Amino acid sequence: MDLRVGVIGTGAIGEDHIRRLTNVITGVKVAAISDINAVKAKRIADKFGAKFYNTGEEVIEAPEVDAIVIASWDPTHAQYVIESIKAGKFVFCEKPLATSADDCKRIVQAEIVGGKQLVQVGFMRRYDRGYGQIKSVIENGEIGAPLILHCVHRNRIPGPKHTTEMNIKNSVIHEIDVLRWLLGEDYKTAQVLMPKCSSLSENGLQDPQIVLLETQSGIRIDIESFVNCQYGYDVQCEVVGETGTVRLPDPANVVMRSSGARSYEIFPDWMDRFVEAYDAELRQWVDAVKEGALKGPTAWDGYVACITSDACSEAREKGTIVSIFIPECPAFYK
Ligand code: NAP
Repeated sequence: MDLRVGVIGTGAIGEDHIRRLTNVITGVKVAAISDINAVKAKRIADKFGAKFYNTGEEVIEAPEVDAIVIASWDPTHAQYVIESIKAGKFVFCEKPLATSADDCKRIVQAEIVGGKQLVQVGFMRRYDRGYGQIKSVIENGEIGAPLILHCVHRNRIPGPKHTTEMNIKNSVIHEIDVLRWLLGEDYKTAQVLMPKCSSLSENGLQDPQIVLLETQSGIRIDIESFVNCQYGYDVQCEVVGETGTVRLPDPANVVMRSSGARSYEIFPDWMDRFVEAYDAELRQWVDAVKEGALKGPTAWDGYVACITSDACSEAREKGTIVSIFIPECPAFYK
């Protein structure tokens, strides 16, 4: 029987996930849809044969909905995740799990009280082939112990609501999660350096930024966050180990020789760059929900990422190095 999913949020990624759940992944259908922008949500509901609801809460309560996908704006995530837990329904929440560690903590507490893991967070880089290969290289000891990581996260242009704080809380949060997953350890300190601001930056956005993290064992990480780089969506990651290095490959694209140059296209945005990871992530989630036990990034992973991104925000505001305190992971999540 098909899993019947309710989707809250029909913006860029919401509509893409609805397409994916309808046309790419088998054994699932989108049964209900809601967005604060009712006109857009109704159009998408009609296009994909789903029922439109006025509010996210109604989607969560709908009897024809087995599980929830949250793809609405960041500040709405916590309330919808908690409502889904109360309704006893599995919920896939796009990153970030919430906009503060305190809200994530409320989610973790609600899930533990409910007694069952229902929440998965959309940290889809864990499903990317390149990051998976880097993880294998590290775990097989092929480059020795990791010592330093150099990362780049560039977007062509920022969205209309993007703020200085979101460079980390909405964007670098991907690196915060996937590097913790690669290395298998939490962070100890955070620092944020503010280089000269791009003259193309608008509305007071401070961009680019450099995030410096230190892990519990002393591995040093630098992440360039540049959301207005103009030329394309570019994600890079290099791990320097004791006996070698490993780096993320550039995504496969044809190489063109033309006009005296050799070139290949850089994807314009995340949707194309990580399409296979999004497919794999939601395919695994659908299968796991049907089996009754999730396997992907947990509410605890979302909480730890938010503790770290909150520390980065504090470090940027104060201009100092900030210590990061991660509580002991409860047995519930081990
Ligand atoms: P978007 O295009 O702005 O879409 C967000 C949608 O949520 C908009 O239609 C917005 O309506 C709607 N919305 C706002 N408040 C709502 C509410 N209370 N209830 C229901 N809908 C509400 O943004 P997006 O790029 O799709 O991002 C959506 C979420 O996905 C964000 O949390 C983002 O961090 C995440 N995301 C994750 C990835 C990834 O790589 N995993 C990639 C992209 C986005 P209005 O436009 O009318 O406000």
